[in-house]
Amino acid sequence: MSQVVFMITVLRIGHRPERDKRITTHVALVARAFGANRILVDTRDPDMERNFISTCERWGGDVSIKTGVKWREELKTFKGQIVHLTMYGEEVSKGIASLDRAKDLMIVVGAEKVPREVYEMATINVSVGNQPHSEVAALAIFLYKYNECQIPEFSDGKMKIMPDPRGKTVVGNE
Ligand code: SAM
Repeated sequence: MSQVVFMITVLRIGHRPERDKRITTHVALVARAFGANRILVDTRDPDMERNFISTCERWGGDVSIKTGVKWREELKTFKGQIVHLTMYGEEVSKGIASLDRAKDLMIVVGAEKVPREVYEMATINVSVGNQPHSEVAALAIFLYKYNECQIPEFSDGKMKIMPDPRGKTVVGNE
């Protein structure tokens, strides 16, 4: 019997290419490494797309990226559940427990002040602690908990790392 796979999308809003390039790149890398399937960024940034695609080619992972999306439209038309990560939201474990795992998931992270509308359009607002910190940390912890502490392994990259307690061991993936 084939298993239904539910998609996890990360939507990054408020991306300012001149200020947020590095942080948004980290949002995308963390999304990929911790089990998301699709990354959407509200401001067009072809450089970021190229770099991300190159990471996926080298290290694997069937993860797509699209920049320049209209966040309001994405939220309005999304058919699954929407989690907005904010320090004001429901405690993360309680938030996750309330989610329906038989639905696709969209996780929204902000950069600067997030419009009120996002809090209202979300299925649930979720906090990772009630202190201000970082979208990168909040996303990593949320995905790690949502995926029950499982971190995906990718077998389709050109290279792979063999865990090595004393150095770096990288092998080709023929
Ligand atoms: N002052 C902004 C606001 O009103 O939303 C917060 C900006 S913060 C630098 C950038 C993003 O990090 C937020 O939009 C949120 O997604 C995430 N974030 C920061 N602290 C968080 C926390 N404690 N829990 C969940 N997400 C958090």
